[in-house]
Amino acid sequence: MRSPAKRRYTATATTLFPKVEMFLEPILASIATHDITVRRLGGRFELRSPYGVGFLEAAAGQLRLSVETDNRHALNRLKHALVGPISFIAASEALHFEWTGDEAGPTPLEDLRILRVRQTMLLTPNMLRIVFEGEDLSRFDRTDQLHCRLIFQPKDVETPEWPSIDDRGHIVWPQQRKLDTRVYTIRSIDTRNGEITIDFALHDHAGPATRWAMDASAGDLVGIVGPAADGPRPAGFYVLAGDETGLPGIARILENLDGHAQGFAFVEIGGPNEKLPLVHPAAIQLQWLDRQGARPGTTSLLADAVRSVEWPSQLQEAFFWGGCEHKAFRQIHRYLRNEVCLPRERQVFHSFWHRKLSEEQIIAAGASAYLPD
Ligand SMILES: Cc1cc2nc3c(=O)[nH]c(=O)nc-3n(C[C@H](O)[C@H](O)[C@H](O)COP(=O)(O)OP(=O)(O)OC[C@H]3O[C@@H](n4cnc5c(N)ncnc54)[C@H](O)[C@@H]3O)c2cc1C
Repeated sequence: MRSPAKRRYTATATTLFPKVEMFLEPILASIATHDITVRRLGGRFELRSPYGVGFLEAAAGQLRLSVETDNRHALNRLKHALVGPISFIAASEALHFEWTGDEAGPTPLEDLRILRVRQTMLLTPNMLRIVFEGEDLSRFDRTDQLHCRLIFQPKDVETPEWPSIDDRGHIVWPQQRKLDTRVYTIRSIDTRNGEITIDFALHDHAGPATRWAMDASAGDLVGIVGPAADGPRPAGFYVLAGDETGLPGIARILENLDGHAQGFAFVEIGGPNEKLPLVHPAAIQLQWLDRQGARPGTTSLLADAVRSVEWPSQLQEAFFWGGCEHKAFRQIHRYLRNEVCLPRERQVFHSFWHRKLSEEQIIAAGASAYLPD
């Protein structure tokens, strides 16, 4: 007897988007950083994600999306995985997606897990480690997807409530009370013991994430969604570069590299007491770049260090990974593209923060506050 065909859930959306050609490349790149494989199929793009498959077609001033899943709950999550990056990169265009097709109603986030603070410890005066405990964390145990979004639950809430996603792919906050969220790197994960560790770089003008972390104590709750953003790829020669916010990612990558790996790791820190004991292959030179009291995001230390690297003649053997403030990100990105000519697939590099903007302000500004020029 043939087993019954699996129920498929589908929906499509079209939006007017006069500048679609201009935004298409960064939109696809941003979608791809959310654990989605982008593949060109003739005139459209196939977007394969853990929630299902989507298609994106751009033509004649319009953008058309279609999504297909075999799980009703995943339908809205997939819409969100596409609408989120598109609306962020093209924030200036104020796009409006009108969906038709199957409807799932408000659905919980498929990837949301709830974590509870197990322990907090100051690693250095400005680096706070929080070890969280939770259940069913295996989806975050990926060496190719290092980051997550944390949803900070206030301390005094008796019955914690978490967001859901509506049929437009938009996040819906309980009683319209938006919780603060920020992106962090999973410094380490131990699924057997149900543990995820995040290192928070504490900074002046503390925003909600930093305030929450500084105030955290055992039992406090945080939601975690993801994972996202690519990790390192196999290479013979690595260059890793980051400030305090990139340090957790660099530390995790160094720990997991093949013992014979060669190259450089540059970490910008505020002073000598911010150094951490990092495990790294012997042939990876670790250099701490001391700002000597200068404010984060104001020096050219990282860019200068990356400029000092002698790259192998076969750039396909090299790999660059980085995360830092937006200005340094732009400088280094430009250098890698124009002077080193490092192929795009040989680098994973993101702007991790902006010295003049909070995350909400970055999201409101869109591409100009996040992308390279
Ligand atoms: C993929 C990714 C991974 C990241 N991983 C980590 C991580 O593992 N650990 C970590 O600490 N951060 C990490 N970050 C950076 C972190 O998300 C930002 O620093 C975030 O803005 C902090 O939120 P907040 O609420 O403290 O400050 P916001 O409310 O966003 O900003 C408030 C003010 O603080 C300033 N500011 C923000 N961050 C810094 C900073 N680091 N130093 C100085 N001033 C700052 C802003 O310019 C703004 O004026 C990551 C970012 C990305 C995109």
